[in-house]
Amino acid sequence: MDKTIYLDMAATTPIDSRVLDKMMPWLTSEYGNPSTQYGLGERAAGAIYKAREEIALLINADPDEIYFTSGGTESDNWAIASSMEYSKANGRNSILVSSIEHHAVSKFCEEKKYDVVEQEVDWCGLIDLYTFQEWLRSRRDIGVASIMLANNEIGTVEPIETLSLIAKSNNVIFHTDAVQAFGHIPIDVKKLGVHMLSASGHKINAPKGIGCLYIRKDIMPKISPYIIGGYQERGMRASTENVAGIVGFGEAARLCREEMNIRNEEIHLLKLYLLSKLEEISGIHANGIDLTENNNYRLKNNLNFRIDGVSGTRLQQLLAEKNICISVGSACNSGNPEPSHVLKAIGLSDKQAHESIRITLGHENTFEDIDIFSKWFKTYVNLLRNIE
Ligand code: PLP
Repeated sequence: MDKTIYLDMAATTPIDSRVLDKMMPWLTSEYGNPSTQYGLGERAAGAIYKAREEIALLINADPDEIYFTSGGTESDNWAIASSMEYSKANGRNSILVSSIEHHAVSKFCEEKKYDVVEQEVDWCGLIDLYTFQEWLRSRRDIGVASIMLANNEIGTVEPIETLSLIAKSNNVIFHTDAVQAFGHIPIDVKKLGVHMLSASGHKINAPKGIGCLYIRKDIMPKISPYIIGGYQERGMRASTENVAGIVGFGEAARLCREEMNIRNEEIHLLKLYLLSKLEEISGIHANGIDLTENNNYRLKNNLNFRIDGVSGTRLQQLLAEKNICISVGSACNSGNPEPSHVLKAIGLSDKQAHESIRITLGHENTFEDIDIFSKWFKTYVNLLRNIE
């Protein structure tokens, strides 16, 4: 069996061994229910609080503004459902989202039959600030806006600080899906000015099935619980806490805070190395912001590009036979034969979208990973070009 070469960190990340070590007691001897009033339970409640502090520290929030959930999807669903409930009760029935939101936002709005204003993005995936302002000024029925901080397919980082200012001046509740950005780029919620922000553990080397929603204190009275039952999470999110998951998420957040700069430097070097290998192959075009630019408008680890005359899906399948993991579109949408809605939104034709692949690097990757990937990538691109 070939060594696994994992280049799909936007889909999920491996659990860091330090995270697992911190989690182990909470999966074994420390099994108390955090709502109980004896040592075993009180220690679990204390561990949850510590994790809450770590998450808060990473984004400059207050610990009591952090609510643990089952992941990014629940956080997105909750943020939108509760803000739309408030907004509708106040006579504003519409929500504005971008055309490249994750399905946890866009499908949810569709399913709930909200009146959705979908703002298009430009060729690199950016939301135009002026158009956003015009929408909010001209459509007073828009009470909520949800624009992602970083896109999961093309890595575009949106100008959230300015967007939230515009939302504020129009009295619009502003939520951002930060699942791909959280722990990877510096986030200061006070500077960003958002009302709500979603994050997920499994994108930062914590386990799957744990996430959080940041809810700014002043908007709390407008937000209703989404999962109802017991008094967990101050009555805002019922169900006995996933103590081990929360502890792991907290430790992963602490490691992101301490290691973010060094990780990003490592990833940048890996990316440059990979780009130098790709230069040897003709007919490769970046999707979204130029891959060689080192600016803050694209996540450092994201490479999404199309390869003339090559089916992305076929290429992915061939690489998978060598145990090399890359993606076409987002992981959550795999199996869907439709071209990616994100690639279509930035102006690609169906054919171009089908010729695209996504590689997302992590600090765990090595130069050897890139060498092995590049060798097989080159072989299979040539093979597919010759037979198609
Ligand atoms: N939002 C974005 C941008 C994502 O990339 C993902 C997962 O890939 C989600 C939401 C959903 O997060 P989770 O898998 O934790 O539910």
